[in-house]
Amino acid sequence: MPGPGDARPIPVSAPDLSGNEERYVVDAIRSSWISSTGGYVDRFEREFAEACGTRSAIAVANWTIALHLALLALDVRPGDEVVVPALTYIATANAVRYVGAEPVFVDVDPATWCIDPAKLEAAITDRTRGVIAVHLYGHPADMDAINRICGAHGMWVVEDAAEAHFSTYKGRPAGSLADIATFSFYGNKPITSGEGGAVTLSDPRLERTARMLRGQGMDPTRRYYFPITGYNFRLTNVACALLCAQMERRVVIMEHRNAIFDRYRSGLAEIPGIGFQPVAAWAIPTPWLFCITVDPDAFGRTRDELAERLAAEGIETRPFFIPLNTLPPFSDGAAARGDAVPVSESLGASGMNLPTFGSLAEGDQMRIVDAIRRAAR
Ligand SMILES: *Cc1c(COP(=O)(O)O)cnc(C)c1O
Repeated sequence: MPGPGDARPIPVSAPDLSGNEERYVVDAIRSSWISSTGGYVDRFEREFAEACGTRSAIAVANWTIALHLALLALDVRPGDEVVVPALTYIATANAVRYVGAEPVFVDVDPATWCIDPAKLEAAITDRTRGVIAVHLYGHPADMDAINRICGAHGMWVVEDAAEAHFSTYKGRPAGSLADIATFSFYGNKPITSGEGGAVTLSDPRLERTARMLRGQGMDPTRRYYFPITGYNFRLTNVACALLCAQMERRVVIMEHRNAIFDRYRSGLAEIPGIGFQPVAAWAIPTPWLFCITVDPDAFGRTRDELAERLAAEGIETRPFFIPLNTLPPFSDGAAARGDAVPVSESLGASGMNLPTFGSLAEGDQMRIVDAIRRAAR
């Protein structure tokens, strides 16, 4: 007799490539423009900048490189400190290390799960150069408060909008809310090219520097003349072909994901001990991966116990990020400074992401909701 474990496995994410993706990739191949110049690169950069409300967008190989490029363009150097929320993906802090700087971890705000502006000021020293404001799980950080504090201290702000494409803060799109913003197009992100990233910005001087750094430091007006040491951070025309097709369907892609979010919210609302991601009055978040928190006292099981039970039924989930201050590359420095991040620790221990993708069948989603309900006790 078939049991629940025999059902088709449900992955945590899957890309939506149902539009012109294949057509445009084939077109890029047939045109032989497969490197990092070509019509799709230019088109994507133009359309993405327009969607973000910035003067320009620069396509790069992935998000980690986008942040590395942003930090280089901002002239971050060894010995500098950069403030990073403790609850984020490791890449946010790794890129700070690539330029020899040191990440300083600040706790997140329980009202947004993003960096807490009230705790930011206390972390600033005379070596602090800027802040990376992560729009965590698609929800924008409180950018006016962050920009105000950083402006008063002569510090820059970079958005980590890796998960937050087209989210809005007080009506303004992510990407346009700081000096530079950085996006990921990794396979599990709402808009994807498998691997890929972008930087958005509106300052022409920063743009010129960033474009030169992306292309080995070459002078844009003189071939093979390199006034600075640069990098190869470019994205291919083939990847941008995928992104152009994704941009055509971006509204539909988000609508499908929002429908999945709505079904989870109504299906899980009555289960004791299951909490949802808060949404600030000024935010329209990006529906990335649906988040729940598990209160073990009220639910009767821990987050990890629930994840195990779901896995046994073929339902893939992800735990929340482990606070970066506790990870080996950063724990010594964080402990020496006394970075205290109780909210990040509690969320990191109790949160999980549920399967979220446009083609998740309603029946499969009901199976997930039902499995969570049955796990409660
Ligand atoms: C996915 C993600 C990244 C890393 O993006 P890559 O394109 O894989 O380098 C960085 N920050 C956050 C918050 C992310 O979710």
